[in-house]
Amino acid sequence: MSDRQYLLLVLGFLALTECLFWVRRGGVVFRQMATRRWRAVVRSEAISNHHGDLHWCWPFPPAGSVYIARSWPFVAGPEGIATVPVECLHPSGHSGTASVFFAWAAVRDVAADGKVLRINGQPLFRSDSPYEPLHFEALLRDLSRLPARDRPTRLREYLRQSFDRPMLRVRRANLSERAANWVTACTGLWIFLMIACPVILWRFGWLPALWWLLPALLLQLAWITAGFIRLHRRFFPAANDERFKLALVYALAPVSATRAPDSLSRPLLGSFHPLCVAAELLSSEALEPLAERIWRDLRFPRPVTMDLRTPQVAAEEAWFRSEIKSRVEDLLREVNVNWALWERPPMPSDPTHSGYCPRCLSQFTEEAKTCADCGGHPLVSMVRPIR
Ligand SMILES: [Zn+2]
Repeated sequence: MSDRQYLLLVLGFLALTECLFWVRRGGVVFRQMATRRWRAVVRSEAISNHHGDLHWCWPFPPAGSVYIARSWPFVAGPEGIATVPVECLHPSGHSGTASVFFAWAAVRDVAADGKVLRINGQPLFRSDSPYEPLHFEALLRDLSRLPARDRPTRLREYLRQSFDRPMLRVRRANLSERAANWVTACTGLWIFLMIACPVILWRFGWLPALWWLLPALLLQLAWITAGFIRLHRRFFPAANDERFKLALVYALAPVSATRAPDSLSRPLLGSFHPLCVAAELLSSEALEPLAERIWRDLRFPRPVTMDLRTPQVAAEEAWFRSEIKSRVEDLLREVNVNWALWERPPMPSDPTHSGYCPRCLSQFTEEAKTCADCGGHPLVSMVRPIR
């Protein structure tokens, strides 16, 4: 293999690794397909472990847009906060079930520490990026300073904002408008690196080609890095450390700089509930399965070991679940999805099936009492299936 072929191979490999990203369990990945339609993925088709999943996006940057959304990774109620996520869209459940409760009166310090949000020094949740801890740091600080009687109203307002479709639309439109030229420059860099550089090196040889390829590359990197800093400061003003780290990477690593728009789009809608993002991006055929999964998860939660839930945590969880459920149902009403149909039992796929799991819809024979895939959820009888 010649050195030019070797260079092409290395560039291709690096470009492919830039298309892979890790998402902690519970995150919903919205990936744009080659047809420009969006698809929601709650579980990776390839590699996953107990903590998360490895996802991918399309290698050509303009076709590879991705958003990541997840529901609140903890419970907040009128009395306090607990380290228990209410929603669990991943089929394998949460990565942990132990819960710690912080009464509002005892919250002295809320601090985003990189990818972890800490309450009084103890971790509340761990995220994929610093954006989520920063978002909830501001929100929980505000809630902890309020008088107890005002807290439920403010909490409901924050939950309402996570389902605010007009706000989501504005955020997306702002990014597309302000970053249009910069995204084109990143795509230009991708074409320059993947197509122009190998062709010119092939045609003219290393030394003559490098005389003008190198200045052109440095100019593009400087422009992209400066644009990234400007846009990142506008959309994520509090994430100073992340901005510095990414700017350094884009200034020094040309292949990573081609994917710089991902670092703005992936966390852009992170403060919105996955159903809100889905209602904006997905077609009605693609929206319904995800909406059903979200609704079933709230209506038929995975059972947890009861000794891991104190009565205090259980009460806050019940309050939070009912608030989220009512917002989910409001949004389903808005997009004309009738969840009443999901209450009905399915048709038996086999005459021996008499029960089903209302959470995942798996069917069982008479002997089975619980669904192991859903953490031992009790089965429901299919006495009168609807035709
Ligand atoms: Zn099940």
